[in-house]
Amino acid sequence: MPALIELSNISRIYRMGDTEVRALDGVDLTVDEGEFIAIVGPSGSGKSTLMYLLGCLDRPSTGTYRLGGVEVSALDDAGLSRLRNREIGYIFQSFNLLPDLSVVENVSLGLVYAGEDAERGRATATALATRFGLGDRLTHTPNELSGGQMQRVAIARGLACKPRLILADEPTGNLDTRTGAEIMAMFRRLNAAGHTVVLVTHDPGVAAQADRAVRIVDGKIVSDERKERSVAIGSGEHEMADVPTPQGDGAIRPADTLRIAVHEGLLAHKMRSALTMLGIVFGIAAVIAMTAITEGGKQRQLEQIRQIGMNAIQVRGLPLEGSRLLAQRRINPDGITPVDLEALRRHVDGIEAAAAWKAVKAEVRLGDNVAEEATPQGVTGDLQAVLDFHVEKGRFLTEGDETTGARVCVLGAEVARQLGAEVGTAVTVGDQLLTVVGVMGRKAYASSDISDIAISDRNRDVYLPFSTLRSYYRKVMRESQMDVIALRMESDDGLVERSQLARRIVADLHRGAEDFTVSVPLEVLRQAQATREVFNLLIIVIAAISLLVGGIGIMNIMLATVTERTREIGIRRAVGAGQRAVLAQFLVEASLLSAVGGIIGLLGGVAGALAVEAVFGFAVAFSPVIAVLAVGISVLIGIVFGLFPAWKAARMDPVEALRT
Ligand code: ADP
Ligand code: MG
Repeated sequence: MPALIELSNISRIYRMGDTEVRALDGVDLTVDEGEFIAIVGPSGSGKSTLMYLLGCLDRPSTGTYRLGGVEVSALDDAGLSRLRNREIGYIFQSFNLLPDLSVVENVSLGLVYAGEDAERGRATATALATRFGLGDRLTHTPNELSGGQMQRVAIARGLACKPRLILADEPTGNLDTRTGAEIMAMFRRLNAAGHTVVLVTHDPGVAAQADRAVRIVDGKIVSDERKERSVAIGSGEHEMADVPTPQGDGAIRPADTLRIAVHEGLLAHKMRSALTMLGIVFGIAAVIAMTAITEGGKQRQLEQIRQIGMNAIQVRGLPLEGSRLLAQRRINPDGITPVDLEALRRHVDGIEAAAAWKAVKAEVRLGDNVAEEATPQGVTGDLQAVLDFHVEKGRFLTEGDETTGARVCVLGAEVARQLGAEVGTAVTVGDQLLTVVGVMGRKAYASSDISDIAISDRNRDVYLPFSTLRSYYRKVMRESQMDVIALRMESDDGLVERSQLARRIVADLHRGAEDFTVSVPLEVLRQAQATREVFNLLIIVIAAISLLVGGIGIMNIMLATVTERTREIGIRRAVGAGQRAVLAQFLVEASLLSAVGGIIGLLGGVAGALAVEAVFGFAVAFSPVIAVLAVGISVLIGIVFGLFPAWKAARMDPVEALRT
């Protein structure tokens, strides 16, 4: 038989401050393939230390360890993990089962880290557990099992990857005599099937059943006795017959990492997970809701500016009353007039189109049909171009209509609809019969929420030539001749300077009367946006703080989790989880926490924004880019803040983790 284990001059020294504990001191030991060997010795003699070294869970301070001809100390973490996974079945005195997992899940733990397909692994674990007499306990958790059953689960787990070497530290120590004997019989059968068995015991009766007994005292081998083999190799029925060898590539599958993170991380502590997510939830919800509201406001204002006309300058009469009105009219009797419009046209350059209008109160009727809230208005200039408005049917008012004072009108789409009027129909406006020469197309309408900008529903307008209005409709005393002069500029360059020029021109014509105002809607929009930008920045800062706090919360909980689950980490390492697998497990757990928090926050933010829209009537607009960004950022937070705890978990020494 070739040597499976070759230890030469192995020492393991623990340093505790100034003192050195030589747990193992110059151990030489060779174990052949197929041996059944008991390690005996008093408590504290170094038996467990030796087992940890043999199990590749610990490294010797000096000396060399060859397992199956491979120098173990030369291997990196991945190499050691593979050995633990495929070559060694480690059975602990205290069973070391994972309490939240079922029997089958515990048995298949090593198979997961072998990268075995989930279905196959489950089948293997079920078959093994059944053969170990656990067929009626497959879905039970360890706390529902007896000591003997737990030990059998532990042994089945150790054997699931068909290791050559079985290491058992006091396997009967926690069991009653009868159960202990059953377990020993099981080891005998496994040995007979070809497995090399090394077990630690302080029970001479147990040691007597092995073929060889090695006695250590104070870290040194003091005796090594061999007997005749009691059983021939390959004889008899045994539990491992036709258990398949795992076919995985030795790396845990991503689906399994995800499953572990979900089941043993998030779902194992639902309340804690939920609370941990809160910071992220609020941070993301705030960002989503606020951006939806500000974005909605922005789009709405843009829409409003579009209705007024981009690059527009407006001169409007001030709403004056009482003595102030009288005072201003004494200086300038007619308010805003077409003369102002002419002067502006002549002296302000860069005007693309100019128009002025005057609304009157008059009923618009066709037979018995009365148009609701229709606004007749006398128009001069190129209103269509100023408002970027188009005629759907017929034509718009012409200069000819204006000079002849033609008895014609153009209807807004809503007025035409309500009256059922067509081009050529005569409609009654006030007490005058006017012929419809055109019907306007529909124009989007959103009421204004910017002060200084008045927007009316253009679909309810009725346009007639200003000269017609003056001839046939009574002028209200002291009213301004025109309501609004609107200039559409060729570009937005110098809008403010030109509006100031317009103000001076009109002020001159009005002889200093303060009866008008000049506004630049685009400027108003820009200022509104600037305010919003500051507001946005504030929201972003608040959200960032919330996300930071959320991230720190995740880190805090993950650190606590890692400490709490130290033993679990040790167990996973013992069955073959590499550092990368442990790192991935906790990193995925942290990322999931924040990702789920981000998604909840996203939904909450959308719901919040819609609620604000419903209750306060703010317009909201959602951007998929921001949604994707929000979830992306939360995942990133999980990764960043989960990295340190996950790194701590991965760096944990397996032996120290198991000793806790
Ligand atoms: P056994 O399993 O034979 O009872 P151990 O191998 O557990 O003995 O321990 C051997 C010696 O090493 C004991 O004196 C123990 O106190 C010491 N020892 C074990 N682990 C550590 C450790 N992590 N730090 C310091 N001393 C340790
Ligand atoms: Mg021990």
